[in-house]
Amino acid sequence: MKRVLVTGAAGFLGSHLCDRFIREGCHVIGMDNLLTGSLRNIDHLFGVEQFEFYHHDVTKFVHVPGHLDYILHFASPASPIDYLRMPIQTLKVGSLGTHHLLGLAKEKKARILIASTSEVYGDPLEHPQKETYWGHVNPIGPRGVYDEAKRFQEAITMAYHHYHGLDTRIVRIFNTYGPRMRVDDGRALPAFFAQAIRGEGLTVFGDGSQTRSFCYVDDLVEGIYRLLLSDYVLPVNIGNPSEISILAFAEEILRLVGNPQAYIDYKPLPVDDPRQRQPDISLARELLGWEPKVDRVEGLAKTYAYFREVVRA
Ligand code: UDP
Repeated sequence: MKRVLVTGAAGFLGSHLCDRFIREGCHVIGMDNLLTGSLRNIDHLFGVEQFEFYHHDVTKFVHVPGHLDYILHFASPASPIDYLRMPIQTLKVGSLGTHHLLGLAKEKKARILIASTSEVYGDPLEHPQKETYWGHVNPIGPRGVYDEAKRFQEAITMAYHHYHGLDTRIVRIFNTYGPRMRVDDGRALPAFFAQAIRGEGLTVFGDGSQTRSFCYVDDLVEGIYRLLLSDYVLPVNIGNPSEISILAFAEEILRLVGNPQAYIDYKPLPVDDPRQRQPDISLARELLGWEPKVDRVEGLAKTYAYFREVVRA
């Protein structure tokens, strides 16, 4: 039986990955320090024999007994308000944490997949973003703690690959959504759902003309799974190219929830907020035969069902 370590296991993406690897018949070791993750996301796994959980902070030395086949490093604060609140931890988990997990992978002769991000492209001057684009990042701006930690993470991962011959994979994740997102994580989609359900203003930052491209979590997990099993070492974008302005996105959620008290409430645009973002997924298509299958209508409907349960109107 394959043994897989997932860091950030109690988080949004980490918990979905645990589910997937358990479904694939693996033994899954979930690790999380619960700084931004929640045990609620993996509650259903505690009775499962194939699953064990370590409450541990990967910025400290990581020890796992027994052999490991795969490591998936998904631990990190990942929403702008989280990494603004925890700038040092964000830098540490991307740098020290990644270093520890690369060391563990080397020791265990395991394959390691690192969660990188479209944020490595910063406020992009190339559109859509291809893996070959080097990015446009402000290292000392408020988002720099996340962006640069992830850029360092890519650099040290490639260094371990070249210097130690480590078997590595790098996924560049674009905006992803779905059940188990934290209601108060400050991101556009949870904020808009919570506000629409409660009949409040949907806080659209700036004039809402900035764009994002939202991928449903099941599609993302499938792409990551295929990348892990591939033999491709350089970074691969996984995301949904269907791009939408934030204002149009807020309006879609308003219509879906249909609460007559909800409205659009414009707020100032945060510093260094990227103007546009859309993955070029030609590489993933060609390499992995992967493309997203869930469109926004279906994905938002599934996500709404979750938020209706967790948001108190
Ligand atoms: N945003 C917004 N209202 C909110 C939260 C976010 O208009 O309540 C905007 C934010 O400024 C950005 C976009 O929505 O332009 C996506 O933000 P999110 O935090 O979801 O992800 P990221 O900026 O990391 O892509």
